[in-house]
Amino acid sequence: MTDTTTPAYSLEFFPPRDIAAQERLLRAAKQMLAIHPRYVSVTFGAGGSTREGTAGTVRTLRNLGVDAAPHLSCVGATLADLRAILASYREEGVRQVVALRGDLPSGMGGDAGELKYARDLVAFIRKETGDWFHIEVAAYPEMHPQADNPSRDLDHFVDKVRAGADSAITQYFFNPDAYFDFIERVAAKGVSVPIVPGIMPITNHTQLARFSQMCGAEIPRWIRLRLAEFGDDKASIRSFGVDVVTDLCRKLLDGGAPGLHFYTLNSAEAPLAIWKNLTSKV
Ligand code: FAD
Repeated sequence: MTDTTTPAYSLEFFPPRDIAAQERLLRAAKQMLAIHPRYVSVTFGAGGSTREGTAGTVRTLRNLGVDAAPHLSCVGATLADLRAILASYREEGVRQVVALRGDLPSGMGGDAGELKYARDLVAFIRKETGDWFHIEVAAYPEMHPQADNPSRDLDHFVDKVRAGADSAITQYFFNPDAYFDFIERVAAKGVSVPIVPGIMPITNHTQLARFSQMCGAEIPRWIRLRLAEFGDDKASIRSFGVDVVTDLCRKLLDGGAPGLHFYTLNSAEAPLAIWKNLTSKV
């Protein structure tokens, strides 16, 4: 059995939109330092909408003494934009990025950018900056929603690794078998980079249903039914969510997952509760 006290934890935040949200983020991040994250990451609004916010949040988090990895997406970006962003991160001493294609917000339309896929962005980062950055990419155990089929999507994931990615973080999922099946299929292609499960805490039924609809993550029927039954009872949803996600994390770590990447949504409560469950000795 894996020692669940030693896996590499990482935490994902999004850039806050105002001062109050910024203060909440800082408070949450400080609380979550108890987890001793290997690094934290900060999302990027595709098309550059959070360019300054992402960079500023990375700076704030690095000032807490933790390694921080900005996300960077190529959709809607010119090579000059990407080059400038990479150069400024490099100047600041950032050593890790999460390289994505991204999705332009609906209604933004316009230019799709000079690079089409995340694979092209990974190759561009390697060409421009050599081995300076540790590059993370996204992986989809339940298939990316726009992919033709699981095999082709897997091939596209493998392309990203062959283009120079060092490791991957998955889209969230609630069925551990989807992850283990994906890991096996990736290994069969001769690819062995660490693939860390992305973990979405369950705290809000409506929000989770909306996210899942957009990103193609399946909420198992039994979880949907339980959440529906709780209605507006937030405390029950949170308590059920912590139990379900703790159980998922245990199965993943026991099955050999190299770590866990929490989608924190800038809130410490659920990730901390799950982490405490995982590290308690009972
Ligand atoms: P890609 O790997 O390029 O794949 C996109 C689609 O294109 C897939 O269907 C793939 O199968 C297909 N494809 C890839 N290569 C080819 C090819 N050569 N020919 C034909 N088809 C191909 N979004 C944001 O906007 N900001 C963020 O900060 C952000 N962070 C994320 C973090 C994680 C861990 C994850 C899992 C997702 C994140 N996303 C973010 C969402 C992500 O941008 C979307 O899922 C997006 O639709 C795909 O990005 P990708 O990097 O996986 O794209």
